[in-house]
Amino acid sequence: MKYSICKNAIGDLIRIPYDESGPYCPICATSFNGCELKHNICPGCNIQFGDDDVPTREFSDHTTEEYFNVVRVQWLNDNDWDTVLIHQLRDILGIDTDALRALANK
Ligand SMILES: [Zn+2]
Repeated sequence: MKYSICKNAIGDLIRIPYDESGPYCPICATSFNGCELKHNICPGCNIQFGDDDVPTREFSDHTTEEYFNVVRVQWLNDNDWDTVLIHQLRDILGIDTDALRALANK
């Protein structure tokens, strides 16, 4: 897996995984199936990149990465913490899923 870094609308850096099949979602590591990230909606977590990849008003005190963790927890809750998805987050994004689980149990 390779990574590219880009800035979102509020200037925070986002690390985007990609390989020969194209980019993966930096939030949930779902493949974009060769589509570009920008202005497309993630088929996994439903975030639209270039538009709602910044903290919403409710989470305006969060950094982008903190907000992404909120979205990740929501996405995992919606999918009953599916083991395949947990591994996807760990393997592609290097996410500490135990920390996410602690966040979910707050
Ligand atoms: Zn996603």
